[in-house]
Amino acid sequence: MPTASRRSFRRLAATVLASSFLLVGALSLKPCRAEAEPVALTFDDLPVMSINDDADYQRTTMARLIKGLHRHHYPAFGFAIGGDVESGPDHLGERLLNEWMEAGFPVGNHTWSHNSLNKTPVETYIADTARADALLRGLMRPHGQTPQWFRHPYLDTGATLEDKHRFEGWLKAHGYRVAPVTMENSDWEFSPAYDQALKTGDLAKAEAVRRAYVRYTASVVTWYRAAGLQLLGRRPAYVFLLHACRLNADSIDDLARIFRENGLKPVSLAKAMRDPVYRRSDDWADADGDEWLTRWAHLAHKKLDWDKFPDPPSDISDESDRLDPNE
Ligand SMILES: [Zn+2]
Repeated sequence: MPTASRRSFRRLAATVLASSFLLVGALSLKPCRAEAEPVALTFDDLPVMSINDDADYQRTTMARLIKGLHRHHYPAFGFAIGGDVESGPDHLGERLLNEWMEAGFPVGNHTWSHNSLNKTPVETYIADTARADALLRGLMRPHGQTPQWFRHPYLDTGATLEDKHRFEGWLKAHGYRVAPVTMENSDWEFSPAYDQALKTGDLAKAEAVRRAYVRYTASVVTWYRAAGLQLLGRRPAYVFLLHACRLNADSIDDLARIFRENGLKPVSLAKAMRDPVYRRSDDWADADGDEWLTRWAHLAHKKLDWDKFPDPPSDISDESDRLDPNE
Protein backbone atom coordinates (compact mmCIF):
# COMPACT_ATOMS: atom_id res chain seq x y z
CA MET A 1 0.00 0.00 0.00
CA PRO A 2 1.53 3.45 -0.98
CA THR A 3 2.33 5.77 1.95
CA ALA A 4 -0.44 8.32 1.19
CA SER A 5 -3.18 5.79 0.93
CA ARG A 6 -1.81 3.98 4.00
CA ARG A 7 -2.10 7.27 5.89
CA SER A 8 -5.66 7.84 4.67
CA PHE A 9 -6.46 4.23 5.54
CA ARG A 10 -5.16 4.87 9.07
CA ARG A 11 -7.23 8.06 9.23
CA LEU A 12 -10.29 6.16 8.04
CA ALA A 13 -9.64 3.42 10.60
CA ALA A 14 -9.20 6.04 13.34
CA THR A 15 -12.48 7.72 12.31
CA VAL A 16 -14.33 4.42 12.30
CA LEU A 17 -12.85 3.56 15.70
CA ALA A 18 -13.72 6.96 17.15
CA SER A 19 -17.27 6.86 15.84
CA SER A 20 -17.76 3.36 17.20
CA PHE A 21 -16.60 4.64 20.62
CA LEU A 22 -19.09 7.49 20.27
CA LEU A 23 -21.77 4.97 19.33
CA VAL A 24 -20.96 2.76 22.32
CA GLY A 25 -20.90 5.88 24.51
CA ALA A 26 -24.28 7.00 23.17
CA LEU A 27 -25.71 3.52 23.76
CA SER A 28 -24.47 3.44 27.33
CA LEU A 29 -25.93 6.90 27.96
CA LYS A 30 -29.33 5.70 26.84
CA PRO A 31 -31.66 5.69 29.84
CA CYS A 32 -31.86 2.07 30.96
CA ARG A 33 -34.64 0.12 32.61
CA ALA A 34 -34.97 0.06 36.38
CA GLU A 35 -31.94 -1.64 37.93
CA ALA A 36 -32.23 -5.41 38.28
CA GLU A 37 -33.14 -6.63 41.75
CA PRO A 38 -30.68 -9.14 43.21
CA VAL A 39 -31.89 -12.57 44.29
CA ALA A 40 -29.70 -15.34 45.73
CA LEU A 41 -30.81 -18.83 44.70
CA THR A 42 -30.32 -21.27 47.58
CA PHE A 43 -31.04 -24.98 47.21
CA ASP A 44 -31.74 -26.92 50.40
CA ASP A 45 -31.58 -30.64 51.16
CA LEU A 46 -28.53 -31.47 49.05
CA PRO A 47 -27.41 -33.86 47.69
CA VAL A 48 -30.94 -34.45 46.27
CA MET A 49 -34.41 -34.09 47.78
CA SER A 50 -36.59 -36.86 46.37
CA ILE A 51 -39.08 -39.53 47.41
CA ASN A 52 -37.40 -41.66 44.74
CA ASP A 53 -34.30 -43.51 46.08
CA ASP A 54 -33.22 -44.71 42.64
CA ALA A 55 -29.53 -43.80 42.13
CA ASP A 56 -29.94 -42.97 38.41
CA TYR A 57 -32.86 -40.67 39.18
CA GLN A 58 -30.76 -38.80 41.75
CA ARG A 59 -27.70 -38.61 39.47
CA THR A 60 -29.84 -37.24 36.61
CA THR A 61 -31.43 -34.73 38.97
CA MET A 62 -28.06 -33.34 40.06
CA ALA A 63 -26.72 -33.31 36.48
CA ARG A 64 -29.75 -31.40 35.16
CA LEU A 65 -29.74 -28.95 38.04
CA ILE A 66 -26.08 -28.09 37.44
CA LYS A 67 -26.53 -27.92 33.66
CA GLY A 68 -29.56 -25.62 33.97
CA LEU A 69 -27.81 -23.26 36.37
CA HIS A 70 -24.72 -23.16 34.12
CA ARG A 71 -26.88 -22.57 31.02
CA HIS A 72 -28.13 -19.34 32.60
CA HIS A 73 -24.77 -18.47 34.24
CA TYR A 74 -26.51 -18.36 37.62
CA PRO A 75 -24.63 -18.44 40.91
CA ALA A 76 -26.31 -20.81 43.41
CA PHE A 77 -25.75 -22.02 46.96
CA GLY A 78 -26.47 -25.52 48.32
CA PHE A 79 -27.35 -26.50 51.89
CA ALA A 80 -26.45 -30.12 52.59
CA ILE A 81 -28.00 -32.58 55.05
CA GLY A 82 -25.06 -34.52 56.55
CA GLY A 83 -26.98 -37.78 56.94
CA ASP A 84 -28.09 -37.71 53.30
CA VAL A 85 -24.57 -36.94 52.09
CA GLU A 86 -23.36 -40.06 53.89
CA SER A 87 -26.14 -42.30 52.59
CA GLY A 88 -26.76 -44.08 49.29
CA PRO A 89 -24.95 -46.97 47.58
CA ASP A 90 -21.26 -46.49 46.64
CA HIS A 91 -21.02 -43.11 48.37
CA LEU A 92 -23.73 -41.74 46.08
CA GLY A 93 -24.51 -38.78 48.35
CA GLU A 94 -20.86 -37.80 48.62
CA ARG A 95 -20.33 -38.10 44.89
CA LEU A 96 -23.35 -35.92 44.11
CA LEU A 97 -22.17 -33.27 46.57
CA ASN A 98 -18.73 -33.36 44.94
CA GLU A 99 -20.32 -32.82 41.53
CA TRP A 100 -22.10 -29.75 42.91
CA MET A 101 -18.85 -28.32 44.27
CA GLU A 102 -16.88 -29.22 41.12
CA ALA A 103 -19.50 -27.25 39.18
CA GLY A 104 -18.36 -24.20 41.17
CA PHE A 105 -21.18 -23.97 43.69
CA PRO A 106 -20.59 -23.46 47.43
CA VAL A 107 -22.09 -25.55 50.22
CA GLY A 108 -23.49 -24.79 53.67
CA ASN A 109 -24.62 -26.80 56.70
CA HIS A 110 -28.27 -27.91 56.98
CA THR A 111 -27.74 -30.21 60.04
CA TRP A 112 -27.16 -33.97 60.04
CA SER A 113 -30.73 -35.22 60.66
CA HIS A 114 -32.87 -32.35 59.35
CA ASN A 115 -34.54 -31.90 62.74
CA SER A 116 -36.48 -28.87 63.88
CA LEU A 117 -34.79 -26.69 66.50
CA ASN A 118 -38.29 -25.92 67.82
CA LYS A 119 -38.80 -29.60 68.67
CA THR A 120 -35.25 -30.69 69.62
CA PRO A 121 -33.28 -29.88 72.79
CA VAL A 122 -30.63 -27.29 71.90
CA GLU A 123 -27.69 -29.49 73.02
CA THR A 124 -28.92 -32.35 70.81
CA TYR A 125 -29.39 -29.96 67.90
CA ILE A 126 -25.89 -28.52 68.37
CA ALA A 127 -24.37 -32.03 68.40
CA ASP A 128 -26.31 -32.86 65.23
CA THR A 129 -25.08 -29.70 63.49
CA ALA A 130 -21.50 -30.33 64.68
CA ARG A 131 -21.65 -33.85 63.20
CA ALA A 132 -22.62 -32.39 59.81
CA ASP A 133 -19.91 -29.74 60.20
CA ALA A 134 -17.20 -32.41 60.64
CA LEU A 135 -18.31 -34.32 57.54
CA LEU A 136 -18.82 -31.26 55.32
CA ARG A 137 -15.54 -29.63 56.41
CA GLY A 138 -13.64 -32.72 55.22
CA LEU A 139 -15.50 -32.96 51.92
CA MET A 140 -15.24 -29.24 51.20
CA ARG A 141 -11.51 -28.86 51.92
CA PRO A 142 -10.31 -30.31 48.56
CA HIS A 143 -12.57 -27.75 46.84
CA GLY A 144 -11.01 -24.88 48.78
CA GLN A 145 -14.24 -24.33 50.70
CA THR A 146 -15.08 -24.16 54.41
CA PRO A 147 -18.64 -24.19 55.79
CA GLN A 148 -19.65 -20.60 56.59
CA TRP A 149 -23.43 -20.56 56.25
CA PHE A 150 -26.13 -22.42 58.14
CA ARG A 151 -29.77 -22.87 57.13
CA HIS A 152 -32.31 -24.03 59.73
CA PRO A 153 -34.51 -26.94 58.53
CA TYR A 154 -38.17 -25.79 58.33
CA LEU A 155 -36.77 -22.30 59.11
CA ASP A 156 -37.33 -23.25 62.77
CA THR A 157 -34.89 -21.04 64.67
CA GLY A 158 -36.03 -22.03 68.18
CA ALA A 159 -39.32 -22.03 70.06
CA THR A 160 -37.92 -19.48 72.54
CA LEU A 161 -35.46 -16.62 72.13
CA GLU A 162 -33.25 -18.31 74.72
CA ASP A 163 -32.91 -21.43 72.51
CA LYS A 164 -32.42 -19.26 69.44
CA HIS A 165 -29.60 -17.29 71.05
CA ARG A 166 -27.88 -20.38 72.47
CA PHE A 167 -27.71 -22.02 69.09
CA GLU A 168 -26.67 -18.80 67.36
CA GLY A 169 -23.85 -18.52 69.93
CA TRP A 170 -22.59 -21.95 68.84
CA LEU A 171 -22.85 -20.98 65.16
CA LYS A 172 -20.89 -17.77 65.69
CA ALA A 173 -18.18 -19.55 67.69
CA HIS A 174 -17.76 -21.98 64.78
CA GLY A 175 -17.54 -19.37 62.04
CA TYR A 176 -21.10 -19.65 60.74
CA ARG A 177 -23.69 -17.08 59.71
CA VAL A 178 -27.40 -17.83 59.44
CA ALA A 179 -28.76 -17.81 55.89
CA PRO A 180 -32.19 -16.17 56.12
CA VAL A 181 -35.00 -16.65 53.59
CA THR A 182 -37.02 -13.80 52.10
CA MET A 183 -38.65 -15.60 49.16
CA GLU A 184 -39.95 -19.16 48.82
CA ASN A 185 -42.36 -21.02 46.60
CA SER A 186 -43.34 -24.18 48.55
CA ASP A 187 -41.57 -26.31 45.93
CA TRP A 188 -41.60 -29.15 48.52
CA GLU A 189 -45.40 -29.21 48.21
CA PHE A 190 -45.13 -30.00 44.49
CA SER A 191 -41.97 -32.09 44.43
CA PRO A 192 -43.32 -35.47 45.77
CA ALA A 193 -46.25 -35.43 43.29
CA TYR A 194 -43.79 -34.71 40.45
CA ASP A 195 -41.34 -37.45 41.54
CA GLN A 196 -44.20 -39.93 41.83
CA ALA A 197 -45.60 -39.13 38.36
CA LEU A 198 -42.14 -39.66 36.82
CA LYS A 199 -41.65 -42.86 38.84
CA THR A 200 -44.90 -44.33 37.49
CA GLY A 201 -44.15 -43.11 33.94
CA ASP A 202 -47.15 -40.75 33.88
CA LEU A 203 -45.45 -38.00 31.87
CA ALA A 204 -48.67 -36.05 31.21
CA LYS A 205 -49.33 -35.87 34.96
CA ALA A 206 -45.72 -34.86 35.66
CA GLU A 207 -45.97 -32.03 33.14
CA ALA A 208 -49.30 -30.87 34.62
CA VAL A 209 -47.75 -30.74 38.11
CA ARG A 210 -44.71 -28.89 36.75
CA ARG A 211 -46.85 -26.32 34.94
CA ALA A 212 -48.91 -25.73 38.09
CA TYR A 213 -45.63 -25.27 40.00
CA VAL A 214 -44.33 -22.69 37.52
CA ARG A 215 -47.64 -20.76 37.61
CA TYR A 216 -47.59 -20.84 41.41
CA THR A 217 -43.97 -19.64 41.52
CA ALA A 218 -44.83 -16.68 39.27
CA SER A 219 -47.65 -15.66 41.62
CA VAL A 220 -45.62 -15.93 44.87
CA VAL A 221 -42.63 -14.09 43.41
CA THR A 222 -44.98 -11.21 42.58
CA TRP A 223 -46.36 -11.34 46.13
CA TYR A 224 -42.93 -11.33 47.80
CA ARG A 225 -41.74 -8.41 45.68
CA ALA A 226 -44.81 -6.41 46.66
CA ALA A 227 -44.46 -7.44 50.33
CA GLY A 228 -40.78 -6.41 50.44
CA LEU A 229 -41.59 -3.01 49.00
CA GLN A 230 -44.56 -2.55 51.33
CA LEU A 231 -42.59 -3.51 54.46
CA LEU A 232 -39.25 -1.85 53.72
CA GLY A 233 -40.21 0.99 51.39
CA ARG A 234 -37.69 -0.26 48.83
CA ARG A 235 -36.80 -3.41 46.89
CA PRO A 236 -34.43 -5.55 48.98
CA ALA A 237 -31.98 -8.20 47.75
CA TYR A 238 -33.88 -11.45 48.14
CA VAL A 239 -32.73 -14.85 49.34
CA PHE A 240 -34.85 -17.50 47.60
CA LEU A 241 -35.34 -20.90 49.25
CA LEU A 242 -35.59 -23.72 46.73
CA HIS A 243 -34.79 -27.43 47.06
CA ALA A 244 -32.38 -29.66 45.14
CA CYS A 245 -35.15 -31.68 43.49
CA ARG A 246 -36.00 -32.95 40.01
CA LEU A 247 -38.89 -30.50 39.75
CA ASN A 248 -36.46 -27.56 39.93
CA ALA A 249 -33.85 -29.30 37.78
CA ASP A 250 -36.54 -29.62 35.07
CA SER A 251 -37.84 -26.06 35.53
CA ILE A 252 -34.75 -23.83 35.49
CA ASP A 253 -35.69 -22.26 32.13
CA ASP A 254 -39.17 -21.41 33.43
CA LEU A 255 -37.76 -20.02 36.67
CA ALA A 256 -35.34 -17.93 34.55
CA ARG A 257 -38.30 -16.50 32.60
CA ILE A 258 -40.04 -15.57 35.87
CA PHE A 259 -36.88 -13.86 37.13
CA ARG A 260 -36.55 -11.92 33.84
CA GLU A 261 -40.19 -10.85 33.89
CA ASN A 262 -39.78 -9.59 37.46
CA GLY A 263 -36.46 -7.84 36.85
CA LEU A 264 -34.72 -10.25 39.27
CA LYS A 265 -31.04 -11.02 38.75
CA PRO A 266 -29.50 -14.07 40.46
CA VAL A 267 -26.43 -13.16 42.54
CA SER A 268 -24.32 -15.05 45.08
CA LEU A 269 -25.64 -15.52 48.62
CA ALA A 270 -22.73 -13.46 49.99
CA LYS A 271 -23.63 -10.58 47.66
CA ALA A 272 -27.35 -10.62 48.52
CA MET A 273 -26.45 -10.69 52.22
CA ARG A 274 -24.56 -7.41 51.84
CA ASP A 275 -27.96 -5.69 51.66
CA PRO A 276 -28.17 -3.79 55.01
CA VAL A 277 -31.65 -5.23 55.57
CA TYR A 278 -29.94 -8.44 56.70
CA ARG A 279 -28.39 -6.57 59.63
CA ARG A 280 -31.90 -6.13 61.07
CA SER A 281 -32.74 -8.16 64.14
CA ASP A 282 -34.75 -11.31 63.46
CA ASP A 283 -35.35 -12.01 67.16
CA TRP A 284 -38.72 -13.55 66.72
CA ALA A 285 -39.66 -16.87 68.31
CA ASP A 286 -42.72 -18.66 67.00
CA ALA A 287 -44.03 -22.19 66.77
CA ASP A 288 -43.89 -21.92 62.96
CA GLY A 289 -40.69 -21.35 61.05
CA ASP A 290 -41.31 -17.98 59.41
CA GLU A 291 -39.35 -16.45 56.58
CA TRP A 292 -37.64 -13.19 57.41
CA LEU A 293 -40.09 -10.67 55.92
CA THR A 294 -42.70 -12.09 58.30
CA ARG A 295 -40.28 -11.87 61.25
CA TRP A 296 -39.41 -8.25 60.48
CA ALA A 297 -43.11 -7.42 60.02
CA HIS A 298 -43.90 -8.90 63.49
CA LEU A 299 -41.03 -6.97 65.07
CA ALA A 300 -42.10 -3.71 63.40
CA HIS A 301 -45.76 -4.31 64.35
CA LYS A 302 -46.69 -4.25 60.69
CA LYS A 303 -48.86 -6.64 58.73
CA LEU A 304 -48.03 -8.23 55.41
CA ASP A 305 -50.82 -8.79 52.92
CA TRP A 306 -51.31 -12.46 53.87
CA ASP A 307 -54.91 -12.46 52.60
CA LYS A 308 -53.53 -12.16 49.09
CA PHE A 309 -50.89 -14.88 49.52
CA PRO A 310 -51.68 -17.66 47.02
CA ASP A 311 -52.05 -21.28 48.16
CA PRO A 312 -50.62 -24.18 46.15
CA PRO A 313 -53.35 -26.19 44.33
CA SER A 314 -54.90 -28.38 47.07
CA ASP A 315 -55.03 -31.58 44.97
CA ILE A 316 -51.25 -31.40 44.47
CA SER A 317 -50.38 -30.52 48.07
CA ASP A 318 -52.78 -33.22 49.38
CA GLU A 319 -51.12 -35.81 47.19
CA SER A 320 -47.63 -34.69 48.26
CA ASP A 321 -48.67 -34.87 51.93
CA ARG A 322 -49.78 -38.47 51.39
CA LEU A 323 -46.56 -39.37 49.59
CA ASP A 324 -44.23 -37.60 52.01
CA PRO A 325 -45.97 -37.13 55.38
CA ASN A 326 -42.70 -36.04 57.07
CA GLU A 327 -42.38 -32.76 55.21
ZN1 LIG B 1 -34.43 -28.69 54.46
